[in-house]
Order: sequence, then structure tokens, then C-alpha cells
Amino acid sequence: MSLSGKINITCSKCRKDYEATVYQTVDTALHENVAKDIITWELFRQTCPHCGNTVTLNYPLLYHDLQRKAVVWVAPVEPGREAKLAEMRKNMALPDHTTRLVAGLDQLREKVSALETGRDDRVLELLKWSLVQNLQKQMPDFKLREVLYLYLDGEEGFHFYSTDGRYLHSPLVQEQYDFVKTKFAKQLKILEGKPYPEVNYLWASTLWANA
Ligand SMILES: [Zn+2]
Repeated sequence: MSLSGKINITCSKCRKDYEATVYQTVDTALHENVAKDIITWELFRQTCPHCGNTVTLNYPLLYHDLQRKAVVWVAPVEPGREAKLAEMRKNMALPDHTTRLVAGLDQLREKVSALETGRDDRVLELLKWSLVQNLQKQMPDFKLREVLYLYLDGEEGFHFYSTDGRYLHSPLVQEQYDFVKTKFAKQLKILEGKPYPEVNYLWASTLWANA
């Protein structure tokens, strides 16, 4: 099932109103190319019909990939989030699905990328953590703002963004991926089957701390 709705937007440039489509759920079976449109932000881009000004919307949504039996739930950090999460974990458990909870659309882009490449997102987060440690050792002046695993234009890799607008890119190295996957095989086995876990940088740092 795919659900969408209309919202009114006031253009930040010309101050005129227009209607935009937002999605409550997206289903890969019903939206052609939706994975690509999410990774490239296309799905969330709105263009003002009056002046052509483009904005990107950020909102909660449920991503369902029936073929891969995966659900990613985007739930922004806000008051009452924990209660909502508990309810969701109880009522929307999908035992035969891989379920994930993310806080925003950049994290959704990462999870969708991992689904597209067939990678284990947990291994990617663990690998990402160790890449960041290396980067900070080699380039201490690169103050990291964000790092994302993305599958763009047929290439997968890690994208590093600094607080002062610098950008670095490193392709995924299969040997490193395999190393991390083997190193944490036991811990990852224990974590299987929990509804809507948050598999992110913080999660990875906790596992490395106990490695
Ligand atoms: Zn406008």
C-alpha cells in the first residue's frame, strides 16, 4: 500500500502558495524507481510552479520493500517519540521482515542504498565507524559533520562532509567489509529479529567499544 497526501507550501522565494505531494508510505512495488528517487532526494524535492524555486522537504514516512522483505521507518526525534516507538514495535512487528528505525531522510537514503546493493546495513555502520576513526587520525583538521553510505550512479561508497563545507569520498572496499562482517559475526547474530532497531553510528560505536 502506498499513501500520499497534499500539503500547502508557501514558497520561500516568491511567497506564493502551492500544493505539494508528501508520502506517508512508499512501496517499492508500486513506485517505479522510488529507491533511486529517495537516494538522489528527487522524491522530496518540490518546485514552486510560480517561480521555479526548489525546496527539499523532510518528513516522517514508512518505506516498504516487499521483494526484499524490508521496512524502514523514518521517525524524527521529537517529544513523545519513545512512546510512539514502543507502540509501533508492539503493533507493527513483521517477523519475516528486516525492520529499521531511522531519525531522518539522510539515514533513509543510506538504508535504501544498502537494500539496493544487498549489503548488511549493520556491517556498513560498523565499517563506517572505523573509517571515521582512521580519517580523524589522518586528517585531524577535517571536522566531521556527517558521513553517509550511498549508492549513487551505480557506485557505492562513503561520503564524508565536514563542518566547513569540505567533502571526501571513499569507495567501499570489499576486504574491509568482509573483515568487519567476520569480526562481529557473533554479536550480529544475537541482535537479529528485534523489531525496528536503530542501527546507526551510535549503535556501531557501542559495539566497537565492547569489541
Ligand atoms: Zn515561488
